[in-house]
Amino acid sequence: ETFDPNRQRRDERSKAAFELAKQYIPGGVNSPVRAFKSVGLTPAYIERGSGSRVYDIDGNSYIDYVASWGPLIMGHAHPEVVEAIKKTAEKGTSFGAPTEIETLMAQLVCERVPSADIVRMVNSGTEATMSALRLARGYTKRSKILKFEGSYHGHADSLLIKAGSGVATLGLPDSPGVPESVATHTITVPYNDIESVKLAFEKFGEQIACVIVEPIAGNMGVVPPLPGFLQGLRDVTTQYGSLLIFDEVMTGFRVNYHCAQGLYGITPDLTCLGKVIGGGLPVGAYAGRRDLMEQMAPAGPIYQAGTLSGNPLAMAAGYTTLKLMTPDRYELLERLSTRLQLGFEANAAKNGIAMTINRVGSMVCPFFTDNHVINFETAKMSNLDQFRAYFGHMLNLGVSVAPSQFEGMFVSGVHTEEDIDLTIAANDEALSRL
Ligand code: PLP
Repeated sequence: ETFDPNRQRRDERSKAAFELAKQYIPGGVNSPVRAFKSVGLTPAYIERGSGSRVYDIDGNSYIDYVASWGPLIMGHAHPEVVEAIKKTAEKGTSFGAPTEIETLMAQLVCERVPSADIVRMVNSGTEATMSALRLARGYTKRSKILKFEGSYHGHADSLLIKAGSGVATLGLPDSPGVPESVATHTITVPYNDIESVKLAFEKFGEQIACVIVEPIAGNMGVVPPLPGFLQGLRDVTTQYGSLLIFDEVMTGFRVNYHCAQGLYGITPDLTCLGKVIGGGLPVGAYAGRRDLMEQMAPAGPIYQAGTLSGNPLAMAAGYTTLKLMTPDRYELLERLSTRLQLGFEANAAKNGIAMTINRVGSMVCPFFTDNHVINFETAKMSNLDQFRAYFGHMLNLGVSVAPSQFEGMFVSGVHTEEDIDLTIAANDEALSRL
């Protein structure tokens, strides 16, 4: 396959599909950023995916870096994952009774996640963080939580405050519908700013149930933790008897075989998981120290439940995906992602565009700014007009990235060097048009 700089996306059918959807679904979509509102385009309606590619109903194909917003670390419709889902489905899709695959999955998660003695499966990342907060509050008998500006932890009331991801993309720092009496318990400080965390603890320390943090922020673009930041959080929470929660919904099994906590060598009290552990089906999980997790019903008094939790199809897809993610696979991801980063950096220099490319493992984010991006404030210095134009060019040139400056790209274990080089060529062409 050679790169075609004259490629032009067709979108007549997608336009019609989107118009119809808007009559029956709010904004036409079931999750806001999918509507392409911030980039002013019509979303491509996807017909199918295979490996590193997605194909839309207008006949366009794209090299895909959205990966369903992170889960598809082994690409679309991986044959082994599809086979596992099929085999499981033939035996029934849900029982509301225990199945052995739930224990297999739990064992695998506990083997690989340093902080996980024991794990509870739920149905989304939102449920995972919401449940972890309830556990932290129930265990510490405190109400306040501390989160970081521009971090996204799903859409539970307590966490929907100065949030990243779609909330940042649409410029909605606080959501109507979150009661003041709930919001008042959420303290927000800038990411990577340990001094602000310490000040908050000096003031409210005895009332703070937990700190919840993305160990690598992935919802304000990609922002790695500065050296000492995560250790600082570990120290201050321990000092005040608060819990440290790592929200690894995005980073878990994406950046490392042992997740971000393994990469940085910091062990939180609780860990939230999602995305990759579901292999493309709806899953979340929260895990941690046994004495904490056994506060949850029926082992303990704190309540959390789910009709479809531990669903056999989701467990089969997740288990198969995790088994495919060998240490070698993470080395391959590192090589491919480095190649992508270096290519983009060379293109930015060549085309005279101010850019900063942040990357940890297969999470890559080209920011349209030459500032060091270390938190939401600096992420917001990016030139959003340039991003918008860039996004449109990339889509036309056959590369699908998230329609927001505040989201990263996800390289998968089935992207090839050829895919990466085609993407670098498209990036060069797109930057040359800005
Ligand atoms: N936490 C993080 C770090 C996320 O990136 C996300 C989703 O993007 C969530 C939580 C929420 O997960 P879900 O969309 O599965 O509810």
